[in-house]
Amino acid sequence: MAKIFCVANQKGGVGKTTTSVNLAAGLGAIGQRVLLIDLDPQGNATMGSGIDKRSLNLSVYDVLLESASIKEAIRPSFWGEEGGKKHFPTYDVLGANRDLAGAEVELVGLDYREMRLKRALSLVGDDYDFVVVDCPPSLSMLTLNGLCAAQGVVVPMQCEYFALEGLTDLVNTIKQVHANLNTDLQIIGLLRVMFDPRVTLQQQVSDQLKAHFGDKVFNAIIPRNVRLAEAPSFGLPGVVFDPLAKGSQAFIEFAQEMVDRLSSIK
Ligand code: ATP
Ligand code: MG
Repeated sequence: MAKIFCVANQKGGVGKTTTSVNLAAGLGAIGQRVLLIDLDPQGNATMGSGIDKRSLNLSVYDVLLESASIKEAIRPSFWGEEGGKKHFPTYDVLGANRDLAGAEVELVGLDYREMRLKRALSLVGDDYDFVVVDCPPSLSMLTLNGLCAAQGVVVPMQCEYFALEGLTDLVNTIKQVHANLNTDLQIIGLLRVMFDPRVTLQQQVSDQLKAHFGDKVFNAIIPRNVRLAEAPSFGLPGVVFDPLAKGSQAFIEFAQEMVDRLSSIK
């Protein structure tokens, strides 16, 4: 069964999607079979994997509402099979688009509403080594579906003044889900992203994070790197677009650290 983890932080624009797509590609680059699930109606992870969100016939929305099976809705990242031009590595994608915004309300009246992703994943879990879930910037029913399906959470964060404060809500939510819905769930680690070592404040916050969370802070640090920001406009993760860029190298290093860390989780 695949190791399933969420990339989550309710704060917007902190690098969740960049982490998700590059981690999916980075894990692919070191030989892992990966499924990336876009759980955000913005569909950025879908677009960043080269799949036009407007062209999706079936998406994670259909899977959550059980109007399609997960197997029918999964597609390869575009450069894997559909793009003509072959790039490597590749991974599979369960995409999202604006339809997913409606799922929030539609799920409310349904049975086992927070367990829908978990149930769907039980059908494909053996086909992958890793499932990466890109969560939306909220602690919503969608994020809850991600947290109930996962064994762990990766929290990308920028080393800014309010970073620690914002973590409290997320940590409390994870504790509640752990206590009530999913006893497997744990924080795998905090990932420092968009890091600029020349900024003294960032170094200070990074030190605070280490003091507070110790081993839960990943060793890998993702630098601020323009190639990572440019890659989505080509429909590619940075790791595929420019594998030698500093940011891409950092994500490959991070992928290896994830494999090492997760090997100790059942
Ligand atoms: P949302 O909360 O809206 O889903 P997010 O947390 O998924 O946002 P991203 O979309 O990954 O955040 O990143 C926000 C912006 O920062 C994007 O424009 C992205 O290209 C840019 N960005 C992310 N990581 C880096 C990096 N390491 N270096 C440079 N730019 C980055
Ligand atoms: Mg995002």
